[in-house]
Amino acid sequence: MTNANLFATLRAAFPAELDTCAIEVTDGPGGSTTARYSWREVDEQSARVANLLESLQLPPGSRIAVQTEKSVDALLLYLGVLRAGCVYLPLNPAYQADEMRYFIADAEPAVVVGTSQSMNWLGAIAREAGVAHCFTLDADGDGTLRHALAAQSPRHDVAACHDDDLAAILYTSGTTGRSKGAMLSHRNLRSNALTLRDYWGWQSTDVLIHALPIFHVHGLFVASHCALLAGARMLWFSRFDAGAVIARLTDATVFMGVPTLYVRMLGATAPRLSREHCRHMRLFISGSAPLLIETFNEFRERTGHTILERYGMSETCMLTSNPWLRADGERRGGTVGLPLPGVEVRVHDERGLACEAGVIGAIQVRGPNVFAGYWRMPEKTREEFTDDGWFRTGDVGRIDADGYVTIVGRSKDLLISGGFNVYPAEVEGFINETAGVAESAVIGVPHPDFGEAVVAVVVAKPGASVDGERMMGSLKGRIASFKVPKRVFVVDELPRNAMGKVQKQRLLEEFSQIFVGGA
Ligand code: AMP
Repeated sequence: MTNANLFATLRAAFPAELDTCAIEVTDGPGGSTTARYSWREVDEQSARVANLLESLQLPPGSRIAVQTEKSVDALLLYLGVLRAGCVYLPLNPAYQADEMRYFIADAEPAVVVGTSQSMNWLGAIAREAGVAHCFTLDADGDGTLRHALAAQSPRHDVAACHDDDLAAILYTSGTTGRSKGAMLSHRNLRSNALTLRDYWGWQSTDVLIHALPIFHVHGLFVASHCALLAGARMLWFSRFDAGAVIARLTDATVFMGVPTLYVRMLGATAPRLSREHCRHMRLFISGSAPLLIETFNEFRERTGHTILERYGMSETCMLTSNPWLRADGERRGGTVGLPLPGVEVRVHDERGLACEAGVIGAIQVRGPNVFAGYWRMPEKTREEFTDDGWFRTGDVGRIDADGYVTIVGRSKDLLISGGFNVYPAEVEGFINETAGVAESAVIGVPHPDFGEAVVAVVVAKPGASVDGERMMGSLKGRIASFKVPKRVFVVDELPRNAMGKVQKQRLLEEFSQIFVGGA
């Protein structure tokens, strides 16, 4: 029987020549190289991590909670956790004490890894919760973990796992209510990684610019797994710097980013992104948040490359993708492409009936990539699956006659104004076409008459000004009047989280009082 451990699959894809470079750290000025890790080091360091975990004699299924800065050592820690058959639990370094107390109480990890700096308070939280082992790992690789690993052997037989054994728990960002731990198995991660490697045509000659955080599905799974499974080199940016990334594009073939990274690259002036920088590039991939059609078009004009947009989530890994091969279809801006091979996507209406092509409804999915459920939330898990076993993504969208999927918004974003359903993303699409508008966020604000009133928060293009009254007037002839914002606010920028998603909750808090009391 073959070992279902994802690490076994990744390890089998390492090149035969282990002394070649696997990861080049590009944190110097202009993206210059500051360190190199060979495939041998990836193998040996992950073995040391696995041996350390085994020496702790943890019970099966133990969670290893990690809240560190992005570094290659942190990636190798992840690989070592997989290798040992433990469950990886990445946490955003931005989380503060109260948030970490919740995650640790909920997940009950056996091991917590933080930074030397955070361990002052994180160690106390972990001890309170009865966590037996704490280590530190700093951005430069220093910390107690390094010392503990030095004593370990660099050889290790990959722990045997079954398909359904847990590989990772990802806590969803959860703008409302408690954050939920999505339980991902070795099968979930492996099936999706293999599908993406093939669908996007990965080769060992590829070079990936890895500039995403590694506490999230995008940077940790999609980016790292594809490169590792192809035996391809990574150019590793500990943090995104538009100028440095542009400077190193000439050495790369694939870039993965959230939309904000594309916007920043287009806005960079030194150097200014050009076709010349992209001369060896074969693929630009975007996901995690909607890519504005303007960005899609501007990027194509500037570089000659058509960004490939894909769609996925923590609970399911990747679900749909625009095609890589022309033979599979065109890359359509504003859509998230076609269901990936092996993944089924359907759209249902409120009565639970399948929507016709082009009709908006709730997106549901099924496939080997779909998670096992929410950690210790059997009720919530049951609610999120249909009786026939499809996962309710919470996204609202449509599937066109030729299979392309378009996301219209989150169902929880849906606002109801005067009894009418309004999908914010639809209204945002119209607003973004207005002259002078760079981007917008539409929210539903409590209103004495309408229940909720449509409100737009708008960012103007550099040098442009936006007149809210005039915009509302021009929208009136174009969309139903119940969708036209009652008020427009112009701001310098929209609040976003690390993955580039607009934090509508923060806007709701800021504007919640504007209509209350007849204001
Ligand atoms: P997360 O679990 O943090 O990765 O968030 C997943 C959510 O991000 C999805 O349910 C979608 O609402 C959103 N999302 C991901 N990719 C896209 C995309 N390409 N376009 C629009 N929304 C996206």
